Amino acid sequence: MKVLERIVVVGNSTAGITVANKIRTRIAKEDAEVILIAGGNRHYFNEASVFLPVNYLQGSCLSAPVKSLLKKSILHVNENIKSIDVENNGILTEEGHLIRYTYLVIAMDCVPDPDAIPGFKEEVRSVNEVQSTISLKEDIQNLKQGSIVIGNAPNFKGNQTLASDIAILLSKYFKEKKLDSKIKIQVFFPEDKIHGNTELFNWVENELKSNNVEVIGGFSLTSLNVKNRELVSSAGKTIKYDLPVVMPPESLHKSILSSHLPKTENGRIDIDESTLSIKNNDQIYLIGGSLGIPGSQNIYSALDQAEFVSARIANRISGYRDPGQFKLRIELHPLIDNKLAISALVDDDSLIVGKASETDFLLRLYAHSSYFGREIRGFV
Ligand SMILES: Cc1cc2nc3c(=O)[nH]c(=O)nc-3n(C[C@H](O)[C@H](O)[C@H](O)COP(=O)(O)OP(=O)(O)OC[C@H]3O[C@@H](n4cnc5c(N)ncnc54)[C@H](O)[C@@H]3O)c2cc1C
Repeated sequence: MKVLERIVVVGNSTAGITVANKIRTRIAKEDAEVILIAGGNRHYFNEASVFLPVNYLQGSCLSAPVKSLLKKSILHVNENIKSIDVENNGILTEEGHLIRYTYLVIAMDCVPDPDAIPGFKEEVRSVNEVQSTISLKEDIQNLKQGSIVIGNAPNFKGNQTLASDIAILLSKYFKEKKLDSKIKIQVFFPEDKIHGNTELFNWVENELKSNNVEVIGGFSLTSLNVKNRELVSSAGKTIKYDLPVVMPPESLHKSILSSHLPKTENGRIDIDESTLSIKNNDQIYLIGGSLGIPGSQNIYSALDQAEFVSARIANRISGYRDPGQFKLRIELHPLIDNKLAISALVDDDSLIVGKASETDFLLRLYAHSSYFGREIRGFV
């Protein structure tokens, strides 16, 4: 009897569901079984959450049951993992189940680590999860004057133009409410680069200034002085706030950190960036936010990575065409007005910016429909 290969994917979000679906499409059921492990029955599409506080979208359109997105023949084990036993090709779940794999794809992102910044938990609003986004919406509706300070914590790994998107939407929102003379909006960035690119930073800075948003570069947030209502940087600079909106610092999951996966000096998992497999191990792959590479959490990068890794594993198991070497690129659609967006591609050091269009804006606003309809299901 033929022994089936087993591909285990950990994580039930953008990267995990997409890669599992693509693997299932590319490898026959007679050759391999596909198992997805992750606790939770619903998947949230975070990308459009910036539109919730200004009432462009309702939260209900941003989530779907995992079951409705996964191909029928993929088994979903609804448990979180506790550790990875690299030596014996096994995953241990928090419920104590041991699940063996022939190939493993880790797609479980990093975890928010708000405790890394004193005062963060008490004071800060964010848009990285639904509850905090709803609270932000209430704060914004109640704010009649003061200063909104928006930015990313130094170790936030996600889309780094997010702060700029929020600022532009809020600037238009308060203008429409005729409160723009009473409410000041400032955006800070930990560096003078965005996704490692200075040109992108300069471009974003110009767009923000033309929307009357003040930009502060090189502000690396280390703490909040709650009494004085100030953000404090590592260099001791301060910014006064009434409403701080900051994407949280993030770190790798304990389950990954405690496993015997090779690590780099800066604490990331040591991967071969041209194959997305961990160094000297062709059976374990990392995609999405778990990679810890700036920009890898970006949805388009996660989809590219899922495409590549599924093809590579299918090539190893059933001779599917070899996808060659992976090249990370970052595709963004930053907002530049409340009705305009633009396409931007960061490819190595170069930045290619398209033409501002209302179509790009609408595509961004309604991205969730094509996302739930095709992309995460692995059709594109
Ligand atoms: C507010 C916001 C706005 C964004 N905007 C944009 C944008 O404009 N453009 C863009 O391109 N991208 C954007 N992104 C990035 C994008 O939405 C995703 O973050 C990206 O697709 C990465 O997906 P992921 O699957 O790697 O991680 P995640 O979506 O974070 O999923 C990780 C999964 O791992 C699971 N998991 C965690 N721990 C365990 C465990 N122990 N065991 C098993 N499973 C576990 C979780 O349940 C989760 O399902 C945004 C993100 C946020 C938060």
